[in-house]
Formats: sequence, C-alpha cells, structure tokens
Amino acid sequence: MLPYHTLQEAQAALGRGLTLPETIWFKYSADKPDFLLHCHNSLFLFLFYSIAPVPFLLMELSGNQKIHKHKIQPKVKRTFWEMFKCYKDVLHTFVIAVTPLQIISYPTIKWIGIRTGLSLPSGWELFWQILVYFVIEDYLGYWVHRMLHCKWAYEKIHKLHHEYSAPIGLSAPYAHWAEIIILGIPAFIGPILVPGHITTYWLWFILRQLEAIETHSGYDFPWSCTKFIPFYGGAAFHDYHHYVGEKSQSNFASVFTYCDYIYRTHKANINTSLRA
Ligand SMILES: [Zn+2]
Ligand SMILES: [Zn+2]
Repeated sequence: MLPYHTLQEAQAALGRGLTLPETIWFKYSADKPDFLLHCHNSLFLFLFYSIAPVPFLLMELSGNQKIHKHKIQPKVKRTFWEMFKCYKDVLHTFVIAVTPLQIISYPTIKWIGIRTGLSLPSGWELFWQILVYFVIEDYLGYWVHRMLHCKWAYEKIHKLHHEYSAPIGLSAPYAHWAEIIILGIPAFIGPILVPGHITTYWLWFILRQLEAIETHSGYDFPWSCTKFIPFYGGAAFHDYHHYVGEKSQSNFASVFTYCDYIYRTHKANINTSLRA
C-alpha cells in the first residue's frame, strides 16, 4: 500500500513527474495491502506454469518432423494424458508446498525490506539484481542438488523428480514437496542479501520458472536466444542429468555450468546428443 492518495501527492513526494510504468504501478498498487501484493507471486507462478509449457506440449503432440528432429530423446513419446497427470500432480504440490512457503515467507520479505512503493527500479537495477539472484541461487542450488543425490536423500526425496528420465516442460517443478522447499530456499537468498522492489521479486521468480521449464523442455533448438548467454546450461545439459538418473554424478547446476566446471562434475561434452 502506498503512502500517497493521489498522483499529485506521489509526484510531490518524489520531486518529479512519474514515468508511465510508475503511473501504472501507482494506480494498481496504491490501495492494495503489501501482503496481497506479496501473494501475487503465487498467482504468477501458477499462471506461468500453466501457460509457458503449452508450446512444448503442442510440439510433442504435433509429431511435426521439423520440430521432432530437435528433440533430445526422440525415442520417448508422451501422450496428452501423461502430460496432464504431470500438471495435476504439480498443482497438488503447488497447493501443499509452494503457496504455503510463499505465504510464510512474508514476514521475512517485510523484514529484509522488499519495497512496494515508488520509485520503480531502473532497467540496470533490475538487470543486476536478477543476475545476482541467478548466480547465488545457482551456486547454492548446485550443492543442494548434489546432496539430494546421496543415497538416502535420493531414495526418499529426489527420486520423484527423476521419474522423468526424459523431462518435459511440465515436469520442471515435478518433485517431492520437501525438494520444492529445500531447493526453494536458495531462491530466497538473493532477495534477502540484495533486497529490491517487489516487481523485481516477482520478475525473478517468473524468470527462474521460465528457465526451469525451458531447461526441462526436452528440446534443444539451435536458434534459442539462451545460446548467447555465457555458461548457460540449457536443455541438453540438464537432460543428460535426467537421462543418467540415480547414478548421475554430473551436470548438477540448474542454470549455469560454472559450478560443474569448478567442481569437476561437468559432463565433458554437453552437446553430446542423446539422439543417437
Ligand atoms: Zn538430480
Ligand atoms: Zn530436473
């Protein structure tokens, strides 16, 4: 909730006119409690999870050869009902783990100073903060994921995520509720260390989710813009981790590949296609 009642009050407080995004933000958020704005995050996670994997689902069902040749494990075919079951199971986990985790994190988010007011972050602030969040989450997530591959944790928790030896976009968050919570914690560490605006916080979780869906898509398109991101793992990199399964001791990182390089768990040739 903003401490101004009118646009004029907001302009007077800032000592300048509002930009168009700031005007939109003022009109949207001025009378909404901060807790409600915080809960938007769960809504966005649900919406983007429901929409972003649809193109991959349609590709899978279309059987189009031009698309099929980019599939990393082409021998594996999924039916609509298999993919729908995955969606249904993830929504269940979403209700019992993701949403409660988001809600109970509210006092922490308030305490660390995630702001909801004006001004909005600049493009540079947005870029650098989200880059820092990605790097921190990737480093901590690497070690958590590696620990999940010890015998006990794999059998009790991580095995469920590896049910998909050939992952699909919808299976990105398909995991035990405990894994969702354990792997969710590194995602909060970046915003805790470098707190920003709540719109940055929303965007961070949306981008992280889109990245996970693309990484689990099962397709490796040579024209993907992610190919230009230095040290970006991508679908072929993570697909190999799923393909090997329980015994996998490589390609643990979720976004970039630098941790696997540093700790020598990088599969030598990440572009080795599993198509053969
Ligand atoms: Zn794993
Ligand atoms: Zn995975």
